Amino acid sequence: MTDKYRKHIFFWENPDKTLIFAFLLPDNCMAFPPVSELIESFFGLIYPNICVCCSRTLLRGEHYLCAHCMYDLPVTGFYRYADNPVEQIFWGRVRVERAVAHYFFRKGNRIQTLVHQMKYHGQKEIGELLGKEIGKALRKSPLADVDMVLPVPLHPDKLRKRGYNQSEWIARGICAEIHKPLNVTSLIRRSSAGTQTKKKRYERWENVEKGFGLSHPDALAGKYVLLVDDVLTTGATLEACIHAVQRSADTKVGIAALAWASD
Ligand SMILES: [Zn+2]
Repeated sequence: MTDKYRKHIFFWENPDKTLIFAFLLPDNCMAFPPVSELIESFFGLIYPNICVCCSRTLLRGEHYLCAHCMYDLPVTGFYRYADNPVEQIFWGRVRVERAVAHYFFRKGNRIQTLVHQMKYHGQKEIGELLGKEIGKALRKSPLADVDMVLPVPLHPDKLRKRGYNQSEWIARGICAEIHKPLNVTSLIRRSSAGTQTKKKRYERWENVEKGFGLSHPDALAGKYVLLVDDVLTTGATLEACIHAVQRSADTKVGIAALAWASD
């Protein structure tokens, strides 16, 4: 390959990354932007990028979701008010400044589809995309005043298997919108949670509780941290994280979950 050609490799890939085409374009081709657009349009006709929810062909500027599905996602609006149902989950259990879940997670709804794609089909960028939507909402709430953003760490075994932590991708999207640093080193996941289903309730609680720790005892002293999770159900995992985080002196905690599975 000559340097002349190497400069202008044109990539096209479909959403699930199974097909990738590469073009070598001559040096003078990129002087005409319509050339790259034409090639993109040509392959878009053969293998269109489609919406993961409704399978419509995505338009230029749309990623993973079409605009119709994006604007129709079931938003909770919890960021607008204190004492919302997600905050109530933690009442009497652990001290939380503010807590939100941005979407409703229900069987068969679009959020369930998106979470499934994000966790089990490698489409981690969906986390960042929806994280940005959460971040835009948080800018209008007191949670925008946190010092840093901490995703709930994935167990090392799961991380090895999946290759990424979906909560970290959600957190990246939030950070991009509220302009706060991402912290993935202070809160750590340390022991195997094992198979939860066969354990008794107390054993499950104990297991989750022992699963989190800090990289050093005062890692988060005096900070206001935003914990980010994907789907919030009983709040047990977040509660265990908060106990770990609050081992640092004067640490305040806020919560932002992508979605709330209310039933
Ligand atoms: Zn759609």
